[in-house]
Amino acid sequence: MSVNKREGLVFVISAPSGGGKTSLVERAVRALPDLKRSISCTTRPPRPGEKDGVDYEFISREAFQGRVASGGLIEWVEVYDHLYGTPRPPLESNRKTGIDTILAIEIQGARKVRELFPEVITIFVKPPSLEVLEARLRERKGEDGAVLERRLQLAREEMGWISEYEYTILNEDLEEAAGQLQAVIVAERCRVRARSSSQKGSS
Ligand code: 5GP
Repeated sequence: MSVNKREGLVFVISAPSGGGKTSLVERAVRALPDLKRSISCTTRPPRPGEKDGVDYEFISREAFQGRVASGGLIEWVEVYDHLYGTPRPPLESNRKTGIDTILAIEIQGARKVRELFPEVITIFVKPPSLEVLEARLRERKGEDGAVLERRLQLAREEMGWISEYEYTILNEDLEEAAGQLQAVIVAERCRVRARSSSQKGSS
């Protein structure tokens, strides 16, 4: 492991559901040393192929509420009737030990994280078009038409939020988009001076 003298950076990546951020994050974590993905906890049931402790920590609503009460989550949100939250201990420990963390979360969570860590680096992944997004969501198994419709509606709204993010990556070609995400991370690591919150967008 490399010896980092700085605190670990925090990256937040958001995309409309089906925007492809999971694959991009997985690639970045595989390619870059000292980068970890934050594993959220959720009350949503696993989709086929999803593994507990890898994709999410799948927990009950009671367990989730217990974590909220004990301050174990940095931020949390309710989307599509399910709770999602970012566990505090791994992020804090990564920051202390100079490991960079990437959080794949939606916009309300991104806003909260920005309040807590003004130096957070925010990235929005755009799908090539809403038609492509719809096709990707339809390929996904395990969700019924009504849920799909709500995801698409939310995706349309989310596309309007791009201006709150500092970087945007168009996910038309996965290889190219993965390269761009890694380039952003590497560039931020090369920064001489930490960004001050006054440099950030006005939102
Ligand atoms: P999905 O059910 O498709 O895995 O996730 C639904 C939405 O919740 C996605 O936009 C995803 O990025 C977001 N999400 C996942 N984990 C978290 C989290 O810990 N906090 C927040 N705020 N959003 C999350």
